[in-house]
Amino acid sequence: MSAGYTERQQAMLQEMGIRVWVPPQVDVVAEAVSVADAAVSAPAPVPVPVPVPAPVPTVALRPTGVAAMGWDELRAAVSACRACTLCERRTQTVFGVGHPQAQWMLIGEAPGEQEDLQGEPFVGKAGQLLDNMLRAVGLTRSEAPAHEQVYIANVLKCRPPQNRNPEPQEVAQCEPYLLRQIALVQPKLILAMGRFAVQSLLKTAEPIGRLRGRVHEVPGMPGVPVVVTYHPAYLLRNPLDKARSWEDLCLAREVLARAG
Ligand code: URA
Repeated sequence: MSAGYTERQQAMLQEMGIRVWVPPQVDVVAEAVSVADAAVSAPAPVPVPVPVPAPVPTVALRPTGVAAMGWDELRAAVSACRACTLCERRTQTVFGVGHPQAQWMLIGEAPGEQEDLQGEPFVGKAGQLLDNMLRAVGLTRSEAPAHEQVYIANVLKCRPPQNRNPEPQEVAQCEPYLLRQIALVQPKLILAMGRFAVQSLLKTAEPIGRLRGRVHEVPGMPGVPVVVTYHPAYLLRNPLDKARSWEDLCLAREVLARAG
């Protein structure tokens, strides 16, 4: 018994029958040993699963110098591109197909499921319709001379999930690739198919209905006539507009013939 009392005080308290509470003496070393023993002999704790954070999309910059690239370099840059989050889910990039000096260049929106799997633009149902339309004006995507074989590319080189509409920043990141493709092909005519191709090439928000029937130019690329038409996928849903689309193809043919 101590608890801070003098020996005399303790004797008096004892005399008065008062028991003073004394804190138990803790043997620090013994306690440390027994804790350590317990740690060794206790069953291993069941691991609690730690939630794994969702991967943060790695968005890197597009390679520089796209505007000066040749075909091989450009193709390699596109297939390695991680400039927007579409790269996370693509099977492969869809670069373009056709004659590298084609007179006709056709521009669509973005790869769909089949295109993402096969790596070629317009190979699904919309592509079959496009091939039929091309055949009707004496053109093809297959091997042929430059005045018969077209070049086909899209605004986006990667498939948007569930074929959703392209986001503005995706279009902006991909744009230099398409502009370089146009500069390399040097087509005599561009056929812009569908709202995204038309609006992003012509830098306008006007609907296709108001842009059809006239010849346009890509800003900064004077001398390359652009004819606007409906997207083949739209025509599959709205077959009555195929007649208008035929008029657009005829206009494009006339423009080319006039250019000589
Ligand atoms: N739609 C497009 O715009 N491009 C393709 O390649 C396929 C479907």
